[in-house]
Amino acid sequence: MSVSASKKVSIIGAGVAGIATSIRLAAKGYQVSVFESNAQAGGKLSELETQGFRFDMGPSLFTVPELVDELFKLSQKNPRDYFNYQKLEESCRYFYPDGSCIIGYTDRERFAKEASEKTNVSPNKVIRFLKKSQFIYQSTAYLFLEKSLHRLSSYLSFNVLMSFFKLPFLGLFTTMHKANKRALNHPKLVQLFDRYATYNGSNPYLAPAILNIIPHLEFHKGAYFPNKGMFSIASCLYQLAKSQGVTFHFHSKVDEIVIENNKVSALKVNRHRIDCDYIICNLDVYFVYKHLLKGYSIPEKIKHEERSTSALIFYWGINATFPQLDLHNIFFSNDYETEFKTLSDGQKLYEDPTVYINITSKKNPSDAPEDCENWFVMVNTPANDGQDWDSIIQNAKQSIIAKLNKQLNTDIEPLIRSEHILDPRAIESKTGSFKGSLYGAASNQRMAAFFRHPNFSNTIKGLYFCGGSVHPGGGIPLALSSAKIVDGLFKPV
Ligand code: FAD
Repeated sequence: MSVSASKKVSIIGAGVAGIATSIRLAAKGYQVSVFESNAQAGGKLSELETQGFRFDMGPSLFTVPELVDELFKLSQKNPRDYFNYQKLEESCRYFYPDGSCIIGYTDRERFAKEASEKTNVSPNKVIRFLKKSQFIYQSTAYLFLEKSLHRLSSYLSFNVLMSFFKLPFLGLFTTMHKANKRALNHPKLVQLFDRYATYNGSNPYLAPAILNIIPHLEFHKGAYFPNKGMFSIASCLYQLAKSQGVTFHFHSKVDEIVIENNKVSALKVNRHRIDCDYIICNLDVYFVYKHLLKGYSIPEKIKHEERSTSALIFYWGINATFPQLDLHNIFFSNDYETEFKTLSDGQKLYEDPTVYINITSKKNPSDAPEDCENWFVMVNTPANDGQDWDSIIQNAKQSIIAKLNKQLNTDIEPLIRSEHILDPRAIESKTGSFKGSLYGAASNQRMAAFFRHPNFSNTIKGLYFCGGSVHPGGGIPLALSSAKIVDGLFKPV
């Protein structure tokens, strides 16, 4: 064994980015240990089994699966022997208050035809819009998703130079909503595409139109479903990491990062000191500064950063089946602008909230008993600021039931066989996410992408950051990209 092969890396947190980073650095020859306060790996990716129903508790939409495959390939394994997924024909069914429905076919031409039939907007206009989304992706992905924005070397390439030239045409200077209205000029299609701002917990009436990069992922690269459910992303990667020699310590809440001579030297876990050469923080960056770096104050930027939205989720075992629903379903509110304004005000939910229902038993019948469905029913909420969640939950449940009864022409309440609730307080306590926000900082500001915390510390040697609260952002694909960026900062040993 070479001398450097003993270089010890400690990762704090076994979220998807923490596990991915562990696999990448193990492949480079580092000795990697992961410390996780929960009893299992996955962080926001977790599952619940109750009364014959199985639910994915966190993320439900899977895009850019090649970022998962890449980790198997790096470890000299064929991903298809361990992790399989199917491409979806429909990314989502969108239901509107007037009872109409637009099916979000992932095939661009088919979607344009569907949208045109339902709204009279010409298919060419829809295609043009999706091509613009592709242009934004192609112009920015390299700079924003694959590189550290905080290293001079990232800017010294032809691709990046081209990205900068294209910035004025990418929608940095207008909001998503304004750009969508201008391009599509139909309230139903504008609402459909405005909703993509919520994929990173932002507000389409404030967020820059550069976020129109997001639909490209579904309409060009595709939406997917892991054959064994979303939690299997975390469980397969955990098994892969272990097979590569990564050591996991559960029930191991890290209390302190020990710094000596401006360099990391150890972790403190349950009062034990664990020496290491490098530390990678996968937990929310706010809590790294607040709790783990003793004697360091929270940087002003992080202290005052607007957090992305959180969520209230009802996991309902439903004693019936609904053929008009698919894997992903959205029931839009009657007034999107007021809904987002109410969310931004932060105290309560809009009386007619947009409701998202994910039903994995549509793809995996074993996730629910026969003739039943497992409904993950989610509404966006403000981040946790000590609101009266008990009364918010009660009111939201009534609004959701009233809305679904009307739209599905049914009486949902007697069909709810089992119920479990996750609210922003529980998201914060279960996953260590500051204020229970789903995606770290919000992207409502024009330059938000540049303001996210870097993947390394400028002041403390050996300290690195990955996960949804740092660059490039929240959501599984970006969290996995953060692992890739951190990997790029380490030399093979
Ligand atoms: P996290 O999952 O945040 O995990 C961090 C880990 O650190 C946790 O396991 C925590 O226990 C651990 N930890 C914290 N403090 C300590 C400590 N002191 N010591 C040791 N361990 C510690 N993304 C999508 O792509 N698609 C979706 O459809 C989607 N929907 C979502 C729905 C919900 C309800 C939620 C909650 C999230 C959703 N997301 C979605 C976002 C996505 O889940 C996250 O961006 C991603 O999983 C974050 O991963 P991460 O690696 O940053 O770590």
